[in-house]
Amino acid sequence: MAIKDIHISPGKLPPECEALRQEVREFLAKELADYPAVNRMRSWQGRDKAFSKKLGAAGWLGMTWPKKYGGHEKSLLERYVVLEELLAAGAPVGAHWVADRQSGPLLIRHSPDELAPKIAPLIAKGEAYFCIGMSEPDSGSDLASIRTKATRVDGGWLINGRKVWTSGANHATHMIALVRTRPKDDTNRHVGMSQFLVQMNNPDVSLRPITTQLGMADFFEITFDDAFVPDENLIGIEGEGWQQVIGELKFERSGPERFLSSHQLMLEMIAAADTTNRDQTNAIGRLVVQYFALRNMSQGIAVMMSRNEDPAMAASLLKDQGALLEQSMPEIAYSHFYDDSDMDSDFYNVMSYLTVAAPSFSLRGGTREILRGIIAKGVGLK
Ligand SMILES: Cc1cc2nc3c(=O)[nH]c(=O)nc-3n(C[C@H](O)[C@H](O)[C@H](O)COP(=O)(O)OP(=O)(O)OC[C@H]3O[C@@H](n4cnc5c(N)ncnc54)[C@H](O)[C@@H]3O)c2cc1C
Repeated sequence: MAIKDIHISPGKLPPECEALRQEVREFLAKELADYPAVNRMRSWQGRDKAFSKKLGAAGWLGMTWPKKYGGHEKSLLERYVVLEELLAAGAPVGAHWVADRQSGPLLIRHSPDELAPKIAPLIAKGEAYFCIGMSEPDSGSDLASIRTKATRVDGGWLINGRKVWTSGANHATHMIALVRTRPKDDTNRHVGMSQFLVQMNNPDVSLRPITTQLGMADFFEITFDDAFVPDENLIGIEGEGWQQVIGELKFERSGPERFLSSHQLMLEMIAAADTTNRDQTNAIGRLVVQYFALRNMSQGIAVMMSRNEDPAMAASLLKDQGALLEQSMPEIAYSHFYDDSDMDSDFYNVMSYLTVAAPSFSLRGGTREILRGIIAKGVGLK
């Protein structure tokens, strides 16, 4: 069997990107001067709406969107540089992350005249925050088996069912929910689903927190109990939600957050390293080489997306390899850099947090096995 190649060309960042990088660094040095390592370690899970609004005011949300949607018509590579700097600093970007990454682009693509003009400008100002309503009890990897349904009524739809593992639902103003609008057709499981914009203050949408092993209630189970949404909140075409979701997942899986969410631990290791200790300098060297390769891949995906090429397989590869790197880091920190004389140090706290958090990195946004299935298919092995 012939195996197909995977081409990801890193491309080159144009000169305007480096000027922008300096600008973002100066902004972050000022805004996050007193932001502690134990907050930075949360990376894009850390939320601060006031900070999101400042990014909006600086023009760093909705960067690539048309001006008529509140965007700034910048290139995907300029956006890439801003994301990279925010992640490297561990900035509290979680409030707006999903909205800026995937919900805004989805609305602009599939509801350009109805929902996008109303909602995208709020996202670009850092004033609208989204959560992802895909997974359900018993429907995670097999997303096509979802059971939450919307039934047509006068002027709109009634949604009934449950979503689960909804990150940040308590901070979100909106959810994009994937639901069934037609009964499942066993001959084609992918038809009959639709996406809806749901306001999280809908009185018939309730949230139950789920405490993670980190002791935080970042996840929620969401119940829809005859929750009414008006006709205009249907996103795109009724029954074609599956295709739309597949497009959305490309945004979800392709960014630098897929290998930079443990960056604070890398900084702690560098700070703890003794330059005369070969074991420690080798460990850092090996990690830097892996970062370098992933960064080239990730930048290459941004270039592919700017050329309208399909990054699905490359994004799956990046996410899988990024999770592998990040999941290896707590053990490297422990075995090469840990000094048990200070159990209240930033190093210790960051390492402990990521030891517990990292296992989820190969689940969120699609599990390792699912991503490897996509890669196998892409190279012609499946
Ligand atoms: C930190 C975090 C944040 C999340 N946030 C959100 C969110 O905001 N919104 C949202 O909708 N969801 C969210 N999720 C849910 C996430 O998308 C699901 O956990 C994921 O898709 C897996 O689904 P599952 O948990 O039902 O596991 P399952 O699908 O039941 O999988 C269990 C195991 O079986 C394996 N498996 C399943 N099918 C196959 C197959 N065909 N071939 C090989 N192996 C297979 C999986 O790889 C996995 O190891 C989040 C999850 C995490 C961990």
